[in-house]
Amino acid sequence: MSLLIKDESPEKLIGEDGKRLDGRDLNELRSIKMEVGVIPNADGSAYIEWGGNKIYAAVYGPREVHPRHDARPDRGILRTFYRMTTFSVSERKRPAPGRREKEISMVIKNAIEPVLFLELYPDSVVEVFIEVISADGGTRCACTAVAILALADAGIPMKGLITAVAAGKVDGKIIIDCSGDEDKSGEADLPCAISWYNNQIALLQFDGIMDLKEFDKSIDQILEALEKIRKLQEEALKKRYIDVRDHLKNYNPKVVTTNNIEEKIDSNNQKNQNGGDQT
Ligand code: ADP
Repeated sequence: MSLLIKDESPEKLIGEDGKRLDGRDLNELRSIKMEVGVIPNADGSAYIEWGGNKIYAAVYGPREVHPRHDARPDRGILRTFYRMTTFSVSERKRPAPGRREKEISMVIKNAIEPVLFLELYPDSVVEVFIEVISADGGTRCACTAVAILALADAGIPMKGLITAVAAGKVDGKIIIDCSGDEDKSGEADLPCAISWYNNQIALLQFDGIMDLKEFDKSIDQILEALEKIRKLQEEALKKRYIDVRDHLKNYNPKVVTTNNIEEKIDSNNQKNQNGGDQT
């Protein structure tokens, strides 16, 4: 009996109406939501929902380096861990980190590290754990965007934000922000991150075939999209600071001087004595 494996890749990714399978225009981003400060046990954290991607990032540190021989006396080190949960894709993903996860952890680290003032933290490590709960194309870009927010939330000094997005080519056309299907069945995928403090490329990978004209068009679309995503990152950070400020407004600690404390102890003693006399 022959084994039939159904190919579920769609034949065409752009319809007659010029729209993509999910109804987007060629240069339209998926919907993006970000929130900062979502994990109370971490030193800093953030969450992003980008189309079908759902991703948490949690930062711990600066803290002591283990193993100790990894420590550097002149600066702190950054470790990034990109992981996809077993249930993040429709086929169960093997839980052990594979080569792809190690590669993505490395490219995120390489994109982010230059903007951090790690020289302020000798002998220390800052660790960023990025968990992809649901994956639908472009996770390395979404992870880069959410990791930098978590680091900002942890108060790690940085020169500026990093923003990332991928362009791609499907059915011979350049598109922005590839979904999972477009990533798998498209002709090219071009993830790119920019570091805003010096406007330099922080990550650029390429998979597929494009001519130079298409490459230029992709970069133009990427730059336009990156501006929009950066605004969302900034809004998420501002919201976090407004929330913290509002929280602190309600926190109205009573200033207690040493004299007050002594008076309080005296009056408490007095009360106790009186209470004691009555019994
Ligand atoms: P990125 O997520 O940055 O685009 P890839 O191009 O390697 O990275 O992956 C594209 C998409 O393929 C992922 O977003 C995910 O939806 C899917 N994918 C990745 N790894 C697996 C896997 N092990 N099993 C099923 N789907 C996967």
